[in-house]
Amino acid sequence: MSQKEFSVTVIGVIHSCFPEKFGIPRQPGMVRAATARMELFPPFNREEMVRGLEQFSHVWIHFLFHQTVVEGWKPTVRPPWLGGQKRVGVFASRSPHRPNHLGLSAVRLEAVIHVDGKTYLELSGIDILDQTPVIDIKPYIPYSDCIASASGGYAHGNQSDLPVVFSAEPSAFCRRYQEKTGRNIRALIEEMIRHDPRPASQKENKSRFGMLLWDVNIRWSVEDSLFQVEDCRQVADESAYR
Ligand code: SAH
Repeated sequence: MSQKEFSVTVIGVIHSCFPEKFGIPRQPGMVRAATARMELFPPFNREEMVRGLEQFSHVWIHFLFHQTVVEGWKPTVRPPWLGGQKRVGVFASRSPHRPNHLGLSAVRLEAVIHVDGKTYLELSGIDILDQTPVIDIKPYIPYSDCIASASGGYAHGNQSDLPVVFSAEPSAFCRRYQEKTGRNIRALIEEMIRHDPRPASQKENKSRFGMLLWDVNIRWSVEDSLFQVEDCRQVADESAYR
């Protein structure tokens, strides 16, 4: 009988703008302003291990859906694209509830950074939770990975055309936050809301929503034909939400 079990070693960890699962885009590349820093662990953080990677604009990140491991896996799942109603096979989905809980995302590589003998990758367009363990990194190779004639089955994008309006206070908050942290949180909030993070089940009966991005709690509402950002507040202890 062939070997049925193998073990893998975590090579690094993602520090991302998504401290909680709610609102995370369904796939990478949907929210360009969604950024992360990947920290590589020793002995995988040697400069030579990423030599040449900076020539690529995008990388494949193999990671573990660590937050769903305890929930196990299901043979069929209800993808959000189908309004959470219809079931498809887990292998016909990108659901985290899969055997082995392996995630795969093609994300933009903004920079490769070496500081004090450590290596970091700056990433954007991510769909990965903060603190996610990373298993492998590979360059994205357009001549073979990009398949122009591919058909996307039931999966499609759902960007909203509605305007995202900031009240005066959240607007000022975003300016101050960006000055302090360098994070363009306003662009992130706008892009996130435009991709409509509301679960299908809440669209009908709720008009106010909240989400946590970095260490900022954001309240927004859907009214008439616009999204209104009503409040942005820094939470005292980011780790309290993990
Ligand atoms: N592009 C990846 C992920 C698709 S599913 C793939 O195809 O494998 C995307 C969802 O995974 C996000 O909406 C988020 O809710 C969830 N997710 C991201 N990181 C996770 C983690 N570490 N543990 C559990 N769920 C995670």
